[in-house]
Amino acid sequence: VETVKRQLEPALAGRTIRGVKVLDPLLVAPLSPAAFRKRLRGQVVTSIDRRGKYLRLHLKTGMTLVIHLRMTGKLTYEEAPLKPAERRHLRLVLMLDNGGAVYFHDQRRFGKAFLLTPEESAAYWHKLGPEPLARQFNRKVMMNILRNRRRPVKSLLLDQSLIAGIGNIYADEALFDSGIHPLRPSEAISEEEAARLVRSIKSTLRRAIRLQGSSIDTYRNVRGERGRFQETFRVHRRQGHSCLACGGGVAKIKVGGRGTYFCPSCQK
Ligand SMILES: [Zn+2]
Repeated sequence: VETVKRQLEPALAGRTIRGVKVLDPLLVAPLSPAAFRKRLRGQVVTSIDRRGKYLRLHLKTGMTLVIHLRMTGKLTYEEAPLKPAERRHLRLVLMLDNGGAVYFHDQRRFGKAFLLTPEESAAYWHKLGPEPLARQFNRKVMMNILRNRRRPVKSLLLDQSLIAGIGNIYADEALFDSGIHPLRPSEAISEEEAARLVRSIKSTLRRAIRLQGSSIDTYRNVRGERGRFQETFRVHRRQGHSCLACGGGVAKIKVGGRGTYFCPSCQK
């Protein structure tokens, strides 16, 4: 999402949304496509940012257009119209005043686009935990999250209300990097391990952003290119292969319904 945000920003900031085409009512529900279009048309995009896994387009009126890509959502920016083959999973088009357009494609249709008023915004973002890449996200914050909770640390890392923006891949890679078993009860994690985990989360996310995300199946960036982080996975999706640190076998289990990959000898 951070990669998408960085690429969309120069194309969108300062632009007016001239036209809105909703090709899939599910994307904007519970609002009707007509109501969504009416509220968005004519709005000026002042800036774009990201909170957790949400992309936020801040509008001059104080409203925010929020986009959540979920599993297979994809945003592209084009100055020329799409070719018919590129329209297959097209769900939404935002036509801009410079002739360009932003396209939302979503094969599995889990993605969402919705508008928040300034009043709604405050309450909405309050539900999300801190940003792991923020300077204030440190050992102390991590210890507060881990303390008094007995859940497996992996589930906790994925809980967006506790920490915002860590996806399944990044949780696996960060736990491997810090040598912590994904099923460890969070309250049993020491201060020293918490400090290591914070460093691993930050370095994993920074590396992923540098490599423009992970393209396992459908993810592409705004220019239609694949991310490259999957080429550097150290445990994720490597079950049955030997651990890059100790040579033992990488294992796969389920934690909270999510496929979880780890090294049983490196991660205690
Ligand atoms: Zn190992």
